[in-house]
Formats: sequence, structure tokens, C-alpha cells
Amino acid sequence: MTIDEAAVRQAIADAVGGERLQVVRVTGTSATAVIDAGGLDGAARAALEQAAKAAGVAAGLDEVRVALTAEKRSRRILAVGSGKGGVGKSTLSANLAVALARLGRKVGLVDADIYGPSQPRLLGTEGRKPEARDKTMIPIPSPWGVPMLSMGHLVQPGQAIAWRGPMAGSALGQLIEADWGDTEILVVDLPPGTGDIQLTMLQKYKPAGAVIVSTPQDLALIDATRAIGLFDQGKVPVLGLVENMAGYLCPHCGQVSDPFGHGGAEMTARELGLPFLGRVPLDIAIRQKSDAGEPPAAGEGPQAQAFMGLARAVLAALDQTA
Ligand code: ADP
Repeated sequence: MTIDEAAVRQAIADAVGGERLQVVRVTGTSATAVIDAGGLDGAARAALEQAAKAAGVAAGLDEVRVALTAEKRSRRILAVGSGKGGVGKSTLSANLAVALARLGRKVGLVDADIYGPSQPRLLGTEGRKPEARDKTMIPIPSPWGVPMLSMGHLVQPGQAIAWRGPMAGSALGQLIEADWGDTEILVVDLPPGTGDIQLTMLQKYKPAGAVIVSTPQDLALIDATRAIGLFDQGKVPVLGLVENMAGYLCPHCGQVSDPFGHGGAEMTARELGLPFLGRVPLDIAIRQKSDAGEPPAAGEGPQAQAFMGLARAVLAALDQTA
């Protein structure tokens, strides 16, 4: 009996997903199928192989040999920037990464903030050192499903500021070109402003999109506008603006006040024709949890909800750029 290769291909494609099936070759009553198993763990790979074999047998074959490949998926870099320090960019980066992981994405975090690498503290990996294999760094797993690497792993505290451009650029390279495995989205917490790290980022590791964090203050917003200008020049899509420390909820009296003004970032976003991605309130619980190495986005309640909402908006914008 002759077996129709096209029919076998269709049957296996139906079983494993057409986008994963790369090659099917039928010889007599057996076939070889090459299937892309990128991004799948051991159990899922085994299930994929089983499904392909069963589909082939159901289509009349005696045997299906399956070769699983892990084709390198393109990894997208999501840059998080701000015009100036202290606006909560690192806090936002950590929680955005955790929230994106909660939404089912494979996310890694690079702490490129050379002036104040704070991600080890924020993600609770302080004191851990990354290992290296063949000179390639291996990211440190964090308890929140987000592997991470930080500039803080490469330098002694206080030393980084003395780095000149090329050193900073090569340090960034070690972090970005680490063994990120099947990570789909690499969140990069940039230093504030528009310095050497940002330039290397734009020229060498072109981000798929950038998120700009600002407080509602006029001054912070003017600086944010400058950071946006840099991404524009580098032709990196600015996915939108996030307003952090918007509205202070007093834990004693329950009143909301606006220490840094209100709605400034949303207005600035509108003026610049950029999406406004959301606001995160100034909330003492956010600082306390962050200091304890427990990203609020990993928990429940209004803080987590704010970050999850933000992550959904960022993801929608990021997927649109693809
Ligand atoms: P940046 O990376 O912009 O320098 P950080 O993320 O380090 O800023 O935040 C500066 C300080 O503000 C940290 O102590 C952090 O815990 C706190 N912080 C950031 N965002 C909030 C917020 N929404 N509510 C309360 N504290 C915050």
C-alpha cells in the first residue's frame, strides 16, 4: 500500500501544531518527522513525540521516527527606562517581569542599572553568584519564575560608576548574551538617563519595545521626554508611559493625596501621542515588600492587580510590534 505523504503531513500537523512541524518524509510504510520543540520542557516534548507517532500510525504507517529540534526562537528585549533615578524604574521592571511570567510568558530580567543595581534585592536573590559555562553566564533562578542577572554580579558595590563606555558596554553584553535558554521576553532595567548603556542597547541589542517610567512631577516628565527621544532616534518603539507613585493612599486615614501631582504622565503621553500604560500608586506596602525581596506582583490584592494590569497592557503593545 502506498501512503500519501501529504495526508501524513496533515495528520501529524493536526496533532502537534502546524507551526511546529518542519519536515515529514515518508519511505515505504515508515516516516521521519522533524518537529520544533522550542520552549517546551521534558514532559511536553515527550507528549509531542507521542502525539506525532500516534497520528502517523493512525494514518496507516508502521513507524514514525521523530526528531525534536529546539529551534532558537527570537528573544525579544523589553527595555524599561526613565529620565531620572528614583522614580521606581527598578521596582516597575521587577514587578513587570514577575507579572509577565504570571501571564504565562517565559521571562528573564537583566539589571543593567550600573549606578544602582537593585534587582538582586528586589527579586530576593541577594548574595547569590551566577555560575558560568564556557565563559557564558548562567542566569540565577529567582523564586518568582524569573531568572535574572545583574550588573551587581560583575562589579563591587560603588565601583561601577567609574566605568567608561566600552567597559559598561561589554558588561552589558555579558548579561544579554548569557544562557537565557527558552526565555521569550528579556526585561532590561536600564540605568536612568541617556548614557553609554542605552546607546549600546540601541545599537547592538535593539529592543523590541521600551517602557518609560515617570512620576507625575513636571521635572520627571521633562526628563522622561528626553529618554523617549533617544528611543525614537534608535527606532525602538516606545510602547508607552507608566505613571509611578501616583496618588498616596494614607494607611492611617484612608485618604488619597497627590504628593507629586496627578495625571501628569497620562497628559504627557497624550501630548506625545504615546499610549498610557497605567499608574501604580505610592503605597508603603510596595516599598516594604520590595525591600523584603518579595515582588508585590507575585502576591494578591490591589498592588498585584496594578502590576498585572500593566503587564497586560505592555504585552498587548509588545505583541503588536511583532
Ligand atoms: P529607580 O530604579 O527609578 O531609581 P527604585 O525602583 O529603586 O527607583 O525606587 C526608589 C524607591 O522608591 C525604592 O525605595 C522603592 O521601594 C520605592 N518605590 C518605588 N515605587 C514605589 C511605589 N509605587 N510605592 C512606594 N514606594 C515605591
